[in-house]
Amino acid sequence: MNWHSSSVADVLDALQTSTKGLRTDIVEKRQVQYGLNSLDTHRGLSAFSLLLKQFKNFIIYILLFAAGISFILGEMIEVVAITIILILNATIGFLQEWQAERRIKALSEMVPQTVHVYRDGTLVNRSVTELVPGDIFVLETGNIVPADARVIEAHHARVVESSLTGESEPQSKRADILEKEDIALSERENMVYASTILSTGRIVAVVVSTGMHTEIGRIADLLQEATQTSTPLQKQLDVLGKTIGKYVLLLCFLLFLYGAIRDQAFTVLMEEGILAFFIETRIWIAIALSLAVSAVPEGLPTVVTISLSMGVKRMAKRQALIRRLSSVESLGQTTVICTDKTGTLTQNKMIVQTVATVDALYQVGERYNPSKELHVVLRTGALCNDAHIPTQGREFAVGDPTEIALIQSVIDIVGSQKMLIGWSRIDELQFDSDRKCMSTIDAHSTEGTWVHTKGAIERILDISTHMYTVHGIKKMTKKQKEQFLVQAEQFASDGMRVLGCAIRSWGTGEVTIDTVEQKMIFVGMQAMIDPPHAVVPDAIATCARAGIRVIMITGDNPVTAAAIAAQVGIVGDTMTGDEFMALSQESQCEALSRVGVFSRVAPAHKFHIVSLLQEQGEIVAMTGDGVNDAPAIKKADFGIAMGINGTDISKQSSDMILLDDNFATIVAAVEEGRNIYENIRKVVNYLLSSNTAEICIILGSLLLGLPLPLVAIMILWINLVTDGLPALSLSMDPGNAQIMERPPKTSTEGFITKNMLMTMGIAVLLITGMVIAVYAGALSHYAYLGDAALARAQTIAFTTLIALEIVRISIIRYEYGLSMFSNRWLNAAVTTTILLHIIILYTPAQKFLHVVPIGYMDWLFVIGVLCSMLAISRIIPHITQMFHATHQKA
Ligand code: ATP
Repeated sequence: MNWHSSSVADVLDALQTSTKGLRTDIVEKRQVQYGLNSLDTHRGLSAFSLLLKQFKNFIIYILLFAAGISFILGEMIEVVAITIILILNATIGFLQEWQAERRIKALSEMVPQTVHVYRDGTLVNRSVTELVPGDIFVLETGNIVPADARVIEAHHARVVESSLTGESEPQSKRADILEKEDIALSERENMVYASTILSTGRIVAVVVSTGMHTEIGRIADLLQEATQTSTPLQKQLDVLGKTIGKYVLLLCFLLFLYGAIRDQAFTVLMEEGILAFFIETRIWIAIALSLAVSAVPEGLPTVVTISLSMGVKRMAKRQALIRRLSSVESLGQTTVICTDKTGTLTQNKMIVQTVATVDALYQVGERYNPSKELHVVLRTGALCNDAHIPTQGREFAVGDPTEIALIQSVIDIVGSQKMLIGWSRIDELQFDSDRKCMSTIDAHSTEGTWVHTKGAIERILDISTHMYTVHGIKKMTKKQKEQFLVQAEQFASDGMRVLGCAIRSWGTGEVTIDTVEQKMIFVGMQAMIDPPHAVVPDAIATCARAGIRVIMITGDNPVTAAAIAAQVGIVGDTMTGDEFMALSQESQCEALSRVGVFSRVAPAHKFHIVSLLQEQGEIVAMTGDGVNDAPAIKKADFGIAMGINGTDISKQSSDMILLDDNFATIVAAVEEGRNIYENIRKVVNYLLSSNTAEICIILGSLLLGLPLPLVAIMILWINLVTDGLPALSLSMDPGNAQIMERPPKTSTEGFITKNMLMTMGIAVLLITGMVIAVYAGALSHYAYLGDAALARAQTIAFTTLIALEIVRISIIRYEYGLSMFSNRWLNAAVTTTILLHIIILYTPAQKFLHVVPIGYMDWLFVIGVLCSMLAISRIIPHITQMFHATHQKA
C-alpha cells in the first residue's frame, strides 16, 4: 500500500488500528511478529577478525621470526616456548579487545530514547524499541522521529530530514492525502521517517514500519559505524609507542652488531657461511629480538581503551551514560561546569504555590469557588499546555513538569479538571526558549475562540496591552506593569519560577508569532516552587575543593536564579544574557571571571559563553536540554544532555547523558574521568619504566663486561606475565578518594609530566642498579659452582627483576595515594605472577626458561633488596620535595 497517497482512514484501516492507538495485547503480538524497533548498526568487529588482527601485530612478526631462527638452529625447546608465548600474547590481546568492543557495543545500546504513544486509549511514555506498526505516537519539538509513520495531525511541523535525504532545510509536514503515487521521499509531506528530527511544531502519526524495515533501516548497512575512532590520548600514546619502538629497534640492532663483532662472527660468516653465522650469534639474535618484543610499548592504546571502558561502566552505575568514549579524557580535565538550573540543580518537581490574578492572590492548597478572573488564569495555564494528568493521579502524568504543575493547580484549587472539558485546540505556537512563551488557540461552544499564552513574566507583560480585572478588561499602564514585575520579583526572591498568563479573542487569520502574540490581555501569574536536589550543595562544595568553577546558565528570571544559586552555594555575580551580550569583548572576558549566574539566557548566548571560556583556556563541560541547545552542547569540550527532560536532539549532540538529570551526577562523572586519566598515567608510568629498565640492565651488564644477565626467553616471560597481567589490572584500579581534593590538570601540562618523568628516571636507575649489583654479587658468590654459576646468577637476577617490578606497582599506587591491597584484580594478578614464578623455578618447566632452583638464602637476599627499594622509594619524595623547594628559592 502507498501510505502517502492513501487517506488517514484507509491507512488506519490497513494497519488495523485507530486514533486511540493499539491495545497492549495486540502490541505484544505485533512485537513478536515484527521484532524490536531498532537498527542493527553497531556490529563492530567480529570475533574472528579481532583474532586475526592480533596476528597482524608487529610484535608477533618478531616472535615468529625468532621462532623461525630457533627452528633453523634446531632449538626445539625455544620454538615451543616462543609458540606458547605467541599464543598467550595473541589470546590476551584478543580478550582485551573483545572486552573493549563488547563494552562499546553495550554503550551504544544503553542510550535510552522514549516516545509518547497511545496504548489502550491513553498517552504513555515508552521506549522507542517497543513501537510496532499501527502504534500512534505524538512528537514534540526536538524529538527524533522513532519509526516511519503517516502523519495524522501536524501543527506547524517542520522536520529536518538531512540524515535521510541530505537536505538540511526543514521540510514542512501536513496530514493531507497526496495525489501523486510515485514521488520522492523528500516530497512526501504527509510522511515522517525514522531518524529525522522534528525541529518545530507537533505531530501525531501512525507507525507504518519499524526497525530494519524503515527507510533508514534499508540503508543501515551504509551507516555501519567504522571501527571505533581512537581517542586523542590513544593517538598520542600510539605515536609515543611507535617513536620509542623505532629507537628500541635501532638499539637492538646495534646490540646485535656489537655482539657479532665481539664474538668475531663476521669472520665466521665469511669463512663458514650464514648458518654458522647464525649459530655463532644466536644468543645475540635472541636477546635483540626479545628486547625488541619487550621494550616496544605496543599495548598502550589497548590499555587506554580498557581503562576508559571500565570507567564508563562505573559511570553508568552512577547514572551517567557516556556516549563518546574519546570525550572522557576532557571530562577528567574539566575546569568549568556550566549548568542549567531547572531540573539539574533543582528537582523539576514543580508545585504551584500562589496564583495571582490582577487583583488578588490565592494560595494553592485551599479550595476556592473560583471567580471569573481566577478561572481564566487557571484555564490559560491548563489549556496552553501539552501535559496530561490521568485520573490515577500526578505520578502517572506525562509531559513537561512546569505544565504538569499548571494542570495540578487546577485540580488542587477546583477539585477536578472539569473546567477544561468542551475546549478543543485549533492551533498552537510551541514553546521555545528564545521567545520564552507558548500559545494555543482554543475553541469552546459557549466561550468562543481564544488565544491562551503563558510564559516568562517579562515577556507576557511585554506583549500585553490590557489586563483582566474584577471590573472588566482595562488598559494597562507602564506603572502597573512595573508593579506586576515587582510582585513577580517577590516570588522569585524565594527561588520560585513565575509564569505569566495572557489571553485574547481570536477570529481567523494566519497563525504566526507576530499575529498571535501581540496586544494581549494580561490575566495573572502562577508562582511555583522547585526546590534544589538535596545533594547539590555538597556536589558544588566538592567542585570548589577540586578547583572546578560552577556557572549557572539558565533561561529563568535573574531573581529566581540568584535565589537558587544562594541556596546551593554557587558564588559570583548575576547577569542576564542580554546584559552580557551588550558588553564589549574585553568587558565580557572580565565579566566571565566574576559572574556565577547567567539568567534569561537564550541558547545562542550559551554558545557564545562556552566559546569565550574556551578561548580563555578553560575546559568546559556544559549541560543543555532544549532543541536550540545542541550547538552549545557540541561546542563544549564535554556536552551533557538530560536523560529525563532533555530533547532527543540535545541527547544526540551530547557526550554524556545524565539519567537522573542531577548536577551531582556530573561531579561524580568528573571524578570518574579523573580516575580514568590517572589510571592510564599509572600504567604508562609502569610500563615505560619497566621496559626501559630491562634494556638498561642488558646494556649496563655488557658495558661492565659481565655475561648477559637475562636470557631471551626470560625477557619474553617478563613482558607477558610481569608486565602484561599487572599492567592490565592497574588500569582497573578503583577510585582515589583524594582525587577531588586537588585542582584539575592544566591542559598545557601534557600527559607525561615533568614530575612523572623524574620518578620514572629514578625508578629505572634504581631497578637497573639493583639488578646488576645482585647479578654481579651472585656471579662472584657462586663462582665456586663453575659453569653452573651463570644459570644460578641469571635466575637470581631474573627473580629480583620480577620482584622489583611488582614492588614498583605498589610504589606507583602509593604515590597516587592508593592503599596496597585495594585492587582485587591486581591482587590476583600479582599472586598469579608469584605462583607462576615459583612453578617455573621448582618444576620441570625450568628448562623452558633456562632457570635453576634457588635456595632460601637467595630468597632472603632478594627480599632484602626489595626492602631497600621500598625504603628508598619512601625517602625519594622527600628528597625531590626538598629539591623543588631549593630550586624555587633559587
Ligand atoms: P534552565 O535553562 O535552567 O533549564 P528554564 O527552564 O527556566 O531554566 P528555559 O526552558 O529556557 O529555561 O525557559 C525559559 C523561561 O520560559 C522559563 O523561565 C519560563 O518562564 C518560561 N517557560 C518554561 N517552560 C515553559 C513552557 N512550557 N511554556 C511557557 N513558558 C515556559
